[in-house]
Formats: sequence, structure tokens, C-alpha cells
Amino acid sequence: MFDRVLIANRGEIALRILRACRGLGLQTVVVYSEADRDADYVRQADMALCIGRAEPADSYMNQSALLLAAKASRSQAIHPGYGFLSENADFAERVTAAGLVFIGPDVACLRTMGDKIAAKHAMRDAGMPCVPGFDNALPADAAELDAIAAGIGYPVIIKAAGGGGGRGMRVVHGGAELAAAIELTREEARRAFNNATVYIEKYLSHPRHVEIQVLCDRHGSALWLGSRDCSLQRRHQKVIEEAPAPGIDPGLIAAIGRRCAEACRQIGYCGVGTFEFLYQDQAFFFIEMNTRLQVEHPVTEMITGIDIVQQQIRVARGEKLSFTQADIRSRGHAVECRINAENPLTFMPTPGRLTHWQPPGGMGVRVDTHVGVGYRVSPYYDSMIAKLITFGASRDDALARMRQALSETRVEGIDSTVALHRQILSEPGFCAGGVDIHHLERWLETRPASPEPVEPHRRSYGDSGITAIGELDGAGAAQSAGADAAR
Ligand code: ADP
Repeated sequence: MFDRVLIANRGEIALRILRACRGLGLQTVVVYSEADRDADYVRQADMALCIGRAEPADSYMNQSALLLAAKASRSQAIHPGYGFLSENADFAERVTAAGLVFIGPDVACLRTMGDKIAAKHAMRDAGMPCVPGFDNALPADAAELDAIAAGIGYPVIIKAAGGGGGRGMRVVHGGAELAAAIELTREEARRAFNNATVYIEKYLSHPRHVEIQVLCDRHGSALWLGSRDCSLQRRHQKVIEEAPAPGIDPGLIAAIGRRCAEACRQIGYCGVGTFEFLYQDQAFFFIEMNTRLQVEHPVTEMITGIDIVQQQIRVARGEKLSFTQADIRSRGHAVECRINAENPLTFMPTPGRLTHWQPPGGMGVRVDTHVGVGYRVSPYYDSMIAKLITFGASRDDALARMRQALSETRVEGIDSTVALHRQILSEPGFCAGGVDIHHLERWLETRPASPEPVEPHRRSYGDSGITAIGELDGAGAAQSAGADAAR
């Protein structure tokens, strides 16, 4: 049991965790870098500690500084959020060795799932369908490599065993490119992940990215909380997510969901996690498991009514889940747009100060963000400034609310991807549902230029004192009304 939690993260997820802790009556300790000193959520915590300079290596990735902060604040548990050290088994080990609770799965599970080759082995053993491939470290011999790739069948994809964040992947279309592609991916993987191991699997031509959220306690209960579709991606990074995955036979989803829960029981998984699959031609293929909270967890919260972060903390405290699989009901549909501080055409990050910020509101609208007017977007971190989530009785309702929410949203002072999302939300393919992982990039190549927001037309009616903003068909009637009023 613990009642003081150190939040080893920043931005919207730090605030999300802080809210969950408050809801459970737990004390919160927030750590921050010099770049985040003025962030509002820092002031909301019961205690805040500066842990170093803006560069992640000097603050949010600095294990010793985090452990020292935990000791100084007498925290009893560390929530790692997502990114940074959230899937780092060595950090979890140090946290545990210091007598603290790491809010996440056991070190052994982190290690297995942190290595995508080991993860595929574990999942195959648990009876999970995986992407066909050679799930071992690759041999050095060129002829053997050729034989392996030809056996899988081109195109194939070379992936880093320790990869993440959409990096460390390369598609190969024929034998002539194979050796060079492997070498390049190895080199990138060594530099980015400090692990040069790569593996090879079939490159699926038109899959969707569909994932299953799981929640497990330490008492043998493992539940699945429905599906999410995260196929709308750019450079293998998610742009819009939704729940449930549209247009897939619920029986198929339930079967794979049950398998995920069963796999969790087999590997002794505890906490929240996500099984990621590629879904093509009515079949699921496991690609990896994320052993942490996901950015897109709110869409699942909206359709299940379950506070995933509170549940994650409860099971870390050793509590038993208070509900069963039969209690989990998925209702309606939810969509999430990631609002990034990026140019909507070039995707270049646009750090700077927010001179105006108008978030949307209304029924079925949720905004998870840490920013406000005057907030300075730092160049040191991920460019996401807000998550806009809408919920509706149906997918069409959720999309309609999202369109309205996006039309209300104002971000000034920096560029943001709001304009991009407005365009995507009127794109027929996306609106129909069930697009594959290449859809967004195909559309980006041909998309029409984004219309500049037009200031609404203003007109005064004589000296009546009436001013009209905007125009409607037949508005002449208003003009005569104005003239009447003036008389
Ligand atoms: P990361 O850990 O970097 O997110 P993943 O293994 O989860 O990497 O893959 C990220 C994305 O890359 C997937 O959502 C999908 O778009 C694409 N991808 C990965 N493996 C394959 C594959 N075998 N065939 C086609 N696309 C793939």
C-alpha cells in the first residue's frame, strides 16, 4: 500500500495521473525540468521538485535524479506515465530495489515485452497469432539471409528488437536491397536504442492497426477493455485514434480480446497494457505489447466508463479488481485527435508561446491538456499539446461532435495540427471508417490546400445600432428589420 505517488513525467499525462491520484485520495509529487518550471500542473501538485535541465537526459530520463526526488519527498510509488522511462526494466528494477512501488508490470514482463523478438516468442507460446516472420536474431551469412527473406516472401520489414515510437523499421521489396537494409537498420537501432538486434517479418500490404487494452490485478484477474483503431498514422505514428475499431465482427474482437486476457494470465502480467495487432483480411496478427499507459487510453475510458489510470494505481496498490469481464460494457463511440504544435503542412515542430488558447466544450467533449494562454511550448519534448476526445452514441455522432469541437478550438501564437484534423474529419475515406495504415499518407500526398480560416463577414444596418456577424441566405430580412428598428 502507498499513499504518496511521484509522477515521473510531464505535460498532459502528468496532469492526468495527478487527477487520478487526487480521485483516490493520494498525495502527489510532481518532478519538473527547468523548461517546465512555469507549467500550471506543477503548481497543482502537493509537492514539486525540479530535477534538472530541459534536456530529457538531464531530467525526465535521469534515473538517479528521480530516485533522489522520490527519497527526498518520501514518495512510496513512482508512476512513469508513457514514453521516457515507462518501459525501462532497469529503472523499474532500481525503483523496486529502493523499496518503492513501480506503477507498472513486473520487471520480468517489462524485459520480455521490451524485446520484440522475446515478446513474439512469448505470445506464440500463449497461442497468439503473430505476423509471419523469422523471430530470431538474424544470421550474418548473406545466403542464409536471402533464404529467410525469400521464405517469408517479399515485401518484408526489418525491425529493431528494441525499437519504439515508429522508428527502427525498414521495408524491403526484393533481395537486391536486403543486405544493405539490414545493415542500415542495425546501425540506426544501435544508435537510437543501444541495441543493434534486428528481426524480419512479412510486410503486410494493407493492414489496419487495431489494439486491445488490458487491465490485470495481482490476484489472477485479467480483463480486456475493448478495441481501439489507430490506423490513421503518419510515419508509423498515430494521429487519430478511436474506440471501438469500426466495422469488425464483434465476435472476432471478443475472441482476440479473450486471448489477450489469457496471455496476461500465462505471463503473470499485472497492471495496464496494450496488445497491438495488424488486422488484415479478417485476421489479427500480433506485433507488440506496450507495457504502460497509452496516449490513446481516453477513448477506451469514454466507451467503458472505466478510469483506466485509477484502476492502474489501484492494482499497483495490491487491490483486487472490483469488476469482472461480464461487467464491462462498451457503449457508443469515441474519437481522439492529437493536437500537436506542428505546422499542419510540413509537420515541422513549432515551439513558442501560446498567445491565445480556446479549447472546445459541450456534451461529449473531453480535452486532456496541460496548456493555457501564455504557455511556452518547449523544443525539447514531444510536440503534443492537447488531446481532443469526443464521445457519441454512434461513430457518426462522435465525428460530428469532433467537427464541432475542432471548429471551436483556437490556437494562436504557434502553428498547430488543428487545421489538419479539420480537413481529415471531412475526408470521405476516414469518415466511412476502417481505413488502413497507409490511408493518411496517401491522402496527404493529394490533399487540397487547407483553406485559410476566414473572418466572419460583419455588417452594420444603417445607424440602427444593429451589427450582424456572419451571413445567412435571406438575410436581407434582417436588413429591413434593422431599418424598421431605426425608424
Ligand atoms: P513501434 O513500437 O515503433 O510503435 P510497432 O511494431 O508497434 O512499432 O509498429 C508501428 C507501426 O508500423 C504499425 O502500427 C504499422 O503501421 C507499421 N508496421 C509494423 N510492422 C508491420 C508489418 N509487419 N507490416 C506492415 N506494417 C507494419
